[in-house]
Amino acid sequence: MSLRAKGLAYIVIMIYYNGDFTDIGFIEDETPRKLLCLIDLFSDRSVLKLGKKYPGLFGQDFRTAQDVYERFLSNRELSRDLWTDLVIKKRPRGEVAEGLKQLTFYQSEQKHAELAKRQIMADYESEKDDIASYFGKIFGFSPPKKLLIILLQTGAESGSTGRCIAINDSQTALIGYLFSTDEITNKKSMVLGIILHELLHSLIESNGILNRKNPDSYLFEETLVDYFLPNGILSHRLKHSEPRDIDIYQKENIIFRPSSKSMSEGLLPIIKEYDDSFAERTIWEHLKKSAFRIYLNE
Ligand SMILES: [Zn+2]
Repeated sequence: MSLRAKGLAYIVIMIYYNGDFTDIGFIEDETPRKLLCLIDLFSDRSVLKLGKKYPGLFGQDFRTAQDVYERFLSNRELSRDLWTDLVIKKRPRGEVAEGLKQLTFYQSEQKHAELAKRQIMADYESEKDDIASYFGKIFGFSPPKKLLIILLQTGAESGSTGRCIAINDSQTALIGYLFSTDEITNKKSMVLGIILHELLHSLIESNGILNRKNPDSYLFEETLVDYFLPNGILSHRLKHSEPRDIDIYQKENIIFRPSSKSMSEGLLPIIKEYDDSFAERTIWEHLKKSAFRIYLNE
């Protein structure tokens, strides 16, 4: 099945689960991919790592990219609506589209995008029952009706990252996935784990789980989700990895996210406790009995 609107093409593959379904669609068009790139480059100051991580990305247009980001995407009011308008509601905003047209773009090889799609679909297909079951038991979440993934090959030598971009009333989650060739050809890749990590962010937001009046709720969310996926206590249950000691997950995750160190140390005994009676109740019920309840909505 395919949908086409305003220059955005979607390949949507239907997957059925217990009468309910999640469509997975891949977005490879230039405009959303450029937006994803800008967000990834500038929104968390990872720009300092530019030379290393993205050789050739935007090439000599780097300053233009920065301008486009500053003019359009650093506007908080605009950013989330922008994604919804451009990609979900398929209503391109002229001004933004014009700015993006000025940028030349790293071109990934089509065969790698095809490989990434095949890998995501095959992994999802073989795990979908377990994913739905664990998401329900651990988080009390049902999968969204649609999962749209913007695929972007970065030119980095290894690894991959994800971005939770938007969710539309629990029906459509939009996720960015930036991959290297090595990641999609590596047997021990974390591809689906990263996508599910981002999906959890989407569902936490759309289910209104966290108390956003607490500014640390974002750091809490990141640290908590890291404890499950892509390198945590749900990874081996979904057969993404061998079972490991929770202390090891904790130590490895703070290497990638040093800002979460003290939050992560505080959560460690609570996660261990949860793992001892895994999925017997939701993690939210479990957290309500701890000091971390301050991050939850009532
Ligand atoms: Zn995250």
